[in-house]
Amino acid sequence: MARIRNEKPLTEEQRLRKNEYNKRRYRRKKAEISAYGKEYRKKNAERLRMVSAAWREANRVATRAKNRKEYATSERRRLQAKENARRWQAANPERANECRNAWRKRNAERVAAAGRDWEKRNPHKYAAHKKLRYAVRKGEVSKKPCEVCGTKKNIYAPHDDYSRPLDVRWLCRKHHMAADRVGGTRKSRYARKGASL
Ligand SMILES: [Zn+2]
Repeated sequence: MARIRNEKPLTEEQRLRKNEYNKRRYRRKKAEISAYGKEYRKKNAERLRMVSAAWREANRVATRAKNRKEYATSERRRLQAKENARRWQAANPERANECRNAWRKRNAERVAAAGRDWEKRNPHKYAAHKKLRYAVRKGEVSKKPCEVCGTKKNIYAPHDDYSRPLDVRWLCRKHHMAADRVGGTRKSRYARKGASL
């Protein structure tokens, strides 16, 4: 049986007081719930990590598709992804190198096309690289070890002045990239590449 409530309408003062009371109660409740959640997450950290790892694994394809779509459509997401990648690469340099090499191997076609594209966009630089390579082949210029660490592997010869193609510095890949970064002029990893020899 429905209870019939014969309530008088509240006065303005009563209404405000009731409002205030409810608000306080709500805030207390919210703080309680949030503290409980924090405590729970702390206690079950390991289990929760496993659960979310399992979820990621189970939803890998969908998650990747979603991330890709966001990456393609959102500038903010793109910047965030790049920043995350940069941070990860800095923290895991060796693994990052392996991944980079594997990617280049998987995408050899694309890498080669990018190289050709670069040559087209930078004809004077490409010409300087070619002249230097030719001079090395003819024995007019001798290839030198890295100026910084002395290795003979992965040697690059960046030009400071492309109009003097045989006047270069000799650096390994690592120190070539480091020198470029110090210069602070590079727009991307490949903006200023030395002739690789
Ligand atoms: Zn070096």
